[in-house]
Amino acid sequence: MSYKPMEIIIGWLYPKLMSTYGDRGNVITIQRRAQWRGYNVIVLPLDQESTTEDIKSVDVIVGGGAQDRQQEIVMRDLQGAKAEAMRDKIERGTPGVFTCGSPQLLGNYYEPAFGQRIEGLGILDLVSIHPGENTKRCIGNLVIEVTASRLAQELEAMTGTKPYLVGFENHGGRTTLGKVEALGRVVYGLGNNGEDGTEGAFYQNAIATYSHGPLLPKNPFVADWLIQTALKLKYQQEIKLSPLEDTLAMQGREAILKRLKVNLPS
Ligand code: GLN
Repeated sequence: MSYKPMEIIIGWLYPKLMSTYGDRGNVITIQRRAQWRGYNVIVLPLDQESTTEDIKSVDVIVGGGAQDRQQEIVMRDLQGAKAEAMRDKIERGTPGVFTCGSPQLLGNYYEPAFGQRIEGLGILDLVSIHPGENTKRCIGNLVIEVTASRLAQELEAMTGTKPYLVGFENHGGRTTLGKVEALGRVVYGLGNNGEDGTEGAFYQNAIATYSHGPLLPKNPFVADWLIQTALKLKYQQEIKLSPLEDTLAMQGREAILKRLKVNLPS
């Protein structure tokens, strides 16, 4: 009998239009960490050429950021049957990491600095408004404590420590959450809107954040959570991932935290 390794299909939302500030780093991290454990990985772009069947076939979804213009093109393409397929995937618990422009797209609407309001998919109960060209963008390092309760518990079970994420934000839009849980609480940086201390959102198994593509390289345990959750859903069995050598990533995190003078409880 031939042995067939388990397989993960990563659906990458509009790689050509939505991949600002190193967002492909998130795709590569999931891909490599799964391959290093012997899983087969397929990276499938989900874009204008894709069908609803493509969307249905993926096991984990990665969506990056975009400039307002590109975001508008994507939001207009992702309507109708494609929007329904995306909604269905997320509602059924397909894990994903959605950065910056992507959560704006999964939310109720986005109001750009110029032009008209763009309707979102309404999967995440949040709205995003760009307050205009003369308002400062939210740019810089971002440190958050994960407060979304189930995610925080699952990450803590994997790592043995309270989950803090180190990232980098760059956005003009300000997001206000409706009836959706925040991903976390801002420890350093601005997060959703620079005012209420929330960062991102967590819904089913979708992680929405303003933190860009270095997110998973800097917080590899989140990539492992995505892989584990995807495999569990697909193969309907508990999956325990073998440990990897993460010293370099952890040293990188420590160096950033030291530079920001952020002391996290150990
Ligand atoms: N266009 C959005 C904003 O400026 C998203 C930016 C991004 O994805 N980096 O808020």
